[in-house]
Amino acid sequence: MKNFNYHSAKDGKEATKLASSNSAYLAGGMTTIPSMKLGLASYKDIIDIKGIKKLSGIKVSGKSITIGATTKHSDVANSKDVKKAIPSLAQLAEGIGDPAVRNRGTIGGSIANNDPAADYPSACIALDAVIHTSSRKIDAEKFFTGMFETALKKGELIEAVEFKIPEKSSYQKHPNPASRYAIVGVYVAKNKNEVNVAVTGAKSCVYNDEKLSKALSKDFSTSAVNAINVSSSGMNSDIHASAEYRASLVATYAKKAVDAC
Ligand SMILES: Cc1cc2nc3c(=O)[nH]c(=O)nc-3n(C[C@H](O)[C@H](O)[C@H](O)COP(=O)(O)OP(=O)(O)OC[C@H]3O[C@@H](n4cnc5c(N)ncnc54)[C@H](O)[C@@H]3O)c2cc1C
Repeated sequence: MKNFNYHSAKDGKEATKLASSNSAYLAGGMTTIPSMKLGLASYKDIIDIKGIKKLSGIKVSGKSITIGATTKHSDVANSKDVKKAIPSLAQLAEGIGDPAVRNRGTIGGSIANNDPAADYPSACIALDAVIHTSSRKIDAEKFFTGMFETALKKGELIEAVEFKIPEKSSYQKHPNPASRYAIVGVYVAKNKNEVNVAVTGAKSCVYNDEKLSKALSKDFSTSAVNAINVSSSGMNSDIHASAEYRASLVATYAKKAVDAC
């Protein structure tokens, strides 16, 4: 591991001020530390944001639930408020990695990293989330821009993620048996007038499956999913699953999610 300067920020303002052209925020460290140890990434400045109280916590207000950026996966999984308002979100958090990862990893770190197989990005898309940052609010559909890429500017700090509370929802994933990352994960959220179907793990970046969303908005049933031909075009193909297998998983897990709603 290369040398770096370690800073502990006392608030968001200090954190963004410390950010440089070659810095990273340290939240759970579950991605940053291994990447640095393996020599895949190196930074001049590491800015620890774990001590910033304002960045952590869960608030329910009317039609939405807002989760602070440094809130750990285990806190979301165990939150009575999340379980009551959006049970599928608590279940998603409970299914991330293992206890060690859930007790360190944070929602802000997960979405900033935007791993193509991460779980939270699908929740953001399906639940019409708004990402609150140090300088603006970004709709989830504009936030995830590509593989490990987001709309965040250099040094922009995620402060919280605001999720819309749906009528019903379910997240179903086919996990990698070792890491628990999604080989394919499908998040279905039913609102009064529309249904959102977000898919992770299948392509290089999370996406809203417009065909499935449209079909389920008209007819919220597994037969509506059966009528859709999920194309394997553009899907990932690797040692874990071929593109064709992933396409079949999208349909299967969309049906599981509809059934579980
Ligand atoms: C063994 C293992 C298994 C895993 N399994 C899963 C899984 O099943 N599903 C899943 O979804 N994920 C999984 N993960 C990922 C994990 O859950 C973390 O969410 C992820 O590693 C990043 O979160 P972190 O808080 O540790 O971020 P860090 O490692 O601290 O930071 C990661 C990146 O995000 C940036 N960042 C962090 N916080 C902010 C912020 N507030 N604002 C702006 N940028 C920020 C940092 O600058 C850095 O670039 C796994 C990880 C490991 C190591």
